[in-house]
Amino acid sequence: MHPSLRIGAIAGVLVFGSAQAVETPAPSSAPKNIIYMIGDGMGPAYTTAYRYYQAGQAGSPVTPTVFDQLLVGLASTYPDDDTYVTDSAASATALASGVKSYNGAIGVDRRETPVEGVLAKARRAGWATGVVATSQINHATPAGFVAHVASRRMYDAIAQQYVNARIADNSMLDLMLGGGQKYFSRDPGGLAEQLAEQGYQQIWALEEMDKLTRLPAMGLVAEVGMPYALDSDAPHRLAQMTDKALSLLSEPEGGFFLMVEGSQIDWCGHGNDIACAMAEMHDFALAIERAKAFVDAHPETLLVITADHSTGGLTLGAEGTYAWKPEVVAQVHRSANALTDALMAGGAEALAQSWQAHVDFALSEEELAGLKQALGRGEKALQSAVLNVINRRSVTGWTTGGHTAVDVPVMAYGTGAEAFVGYQDNTEIPKRMMALMGW
Ligand SMILES: [Zn+2]
Repeated sequence: MHPSLRIGAIAGVLVFGSAQAVETPAPSSAPKNIIYMIGDGMGPAYTTAYRYYQAGQAGSPVTPTVFDQLLVGLASTYPDDDTYVTDSAASATALASGVKSYNGAIGVDRRETPVEGVLAKARRAGWATGVVATSQINHATPAGFVAHVASRRMYDAIAQQYVNARIADNSMLDLMLGGGQKYFSRDPGGLAEQLAEQGYQQIWALEEMDKLTRLPAMGLVAEVGMPYALDSDAPHRLAQMTDKALSLLSEPEGGFFLMVEGSQIDWCGHGNDIACAMAEMHDFALAIERAKAFVDAHPETLLVITADHSTGGLTLGAEGTYAWKPEVVAQVHRSANALTDALMAGGAEALAQSWQAHVDFALSEEELAGLKQALGRGEKALQSAVLNVINRRSVTGWTTGGHTAVDVPVMAYGTGAEAFVGYQDNTEIPKRMMALMGW
């Protein structure tokens, strides 16, 4: 048996086989909490790359990552159109509600009719609910779980629904942690004030996290998205927010549904920036470790992890070279965005020094000349030259700045995990959750 399935099976035995179960009416094998984690853009090449990145370099011992330990299957991600390639909105809608829709759709079907997702159903069942993301909290993936609008671009309408949507007289969300201050105005009468009136504890910086002590609570800790993990003073911010969410949501003891998104794996993928992507994967892996530890302590919990699609057409090995060099990736300490800014600020004369302030390998004469030339052509040319150096040295390939249609991994752990084994369409994931719950 796969190790990740054992908890579910043991829980089943306890429920049906032990004397302890006698005093209460036979409890079902349904989970009492659900933690649903989505690595945005985290196709299979990302979990593979992260394994070797953790190993350090080719030839070192390879150990299974938390993704490997919990892996149970694969999911297809195609949207309800003629493309096979989904965006985050259609995929979030599918992952939340089990309904396929068009690219751009947030919680609505192809006719723009709202579809109720698993978070709302949990709410209906009286569970506490929360969403955590490193993007703005009203970005496509979390929005697909909470809001119903025709287009992911309707950020203000989505934020409004976070504040005003009601399920049986209750607010939709007990907890939101992420970025997006821009969309929750603190002006008189604005959405932040409306939330305060509804009793939400509020913080506006990650360092204030300790001030959140009970539900309902919100922490909007960046204007829009949070800084990349690789550029951040708090590179483990998703793990930190996941910890806080688990401690607050588990307090009421009536069950909870938590959606956690590793939002920026995708953004790094769009940028074809492998060092940026690996830092996001690391934060996401740490967040998963926290969730897994929670399940170990509360085995009646179901943890499901997947991705909404893959991004960038990442390959390990490129242009005929039989190698991938994670040790090069680990030597890069800034995103290509930030590195480009630093090189621009330093100018052509200081380029080698500016580079070495953020990257542990020195540029060759040829690379230096190339970067200087690119700097003369402007920021965009420089960034592309920077990425070229990192991708060539690490033998990392990319085929697109967009998404791809490959299947994504599915990991599951805890009560009910066995329901997610094998191949499934992404719409099956919430359907199976709902089936487990009888929702
Ligand atoms: Zn996405």
